[in-house]
Amino acid sequence: MLISPPVHLRLRAVCALAALAAAAALLGAQQPPASQGAARQRARGNPKDTEVWQPEPPIVTPGATDAAPPSDAIVLFDGKNLDEWVSARDKSPARWTVSDGVMTVNKARGVGNIETRRRFRNYQLHIEWKIPENITGADQDRGNSGVFLASTGPGDAGYELQILDSYNNKTYANGQAGSIYKQGIPLANPNRKPGEWQTYEVVWMAPVFNSDGSLKTPANVTVFFNGVLVQNHFELSGETLYIGKPFYKAYDTAPIKLQAHPDPSPPISFRNIWVRELK
Ligand code: MG
Repeated sequence: MLISPPVHLRLRAVCALAALAAAAALLGAQQPPASQGAARQRARGNPKDTEVWQPEPPIVTPGATDAAPPSDAIVLFDGKNLDEWVSARDKSPARWTVSDGVMTVNKARGVGNIETRRRFRNYQLHIEWKIPENITGADQDRGNSGVFLASTGPGDAGYELQILDSYNNKTYANGQAGSIYKQGIPLANPNRKPGEWQTYEVVWMAPVFNSDGSLKTPANVTVFFNGVLVQNHFELSGETLYIGKPFYKAYDTAPIKLQAHPDPSPPISFRNIWVRELK
């Protein structure tokens, strides 16, 4: 004997059928007949009007890993020698040490900062650094170094992206690793512990100056630190200074400089340094 289902089950079936019918109607509405669709398309304009085909982006072959230089990069250090580097003081050959594919700061008196032979304006930079496992000291005297994104003179003249052991080491926030020294507090602290390699991926857009030396547009920088965004198009107020308020000094192109900080902690190391020039 056939027993009709209870009322609530019948109601549920009716609702389901109604929902299906509504969905079918909606699908139908989204797919009008071809002629109708073409007419509507004409009314909305031609999608080809907003397609840009030229210029085509240049083909760049990426490195085998994100640490390896892409095909259009200038390699500044590949683990072999310091041919691309000179003393920031007198432009003599750089006297930091190279061993096992790694460059290590030479803190001996009279050696000091090193900088690239080449000069740059706007660029993308990849650089890896390591605080030694046996690091000592505290605050700013613990693995202090730095990348000067533009070296505008000897010593620490220029724009410093700070390097420091900030894994478990308190210092002023605008002086920890990932800071634009005394200007830009990093958005996060993604430091790895001493003994592990760390990476900066930098986009540096240099300041632009008028012909009379006055500032036209300030510099800005974006930095990923171990893959974490720490500077997001940060606009600088001038060169990074140890003492006093920053200000701009006109320059055109500049080397990239690495800091031999005089603190007594063991020296830090670098590897895989490459740069891609930007317009
Ligand atoms: Mg420093």
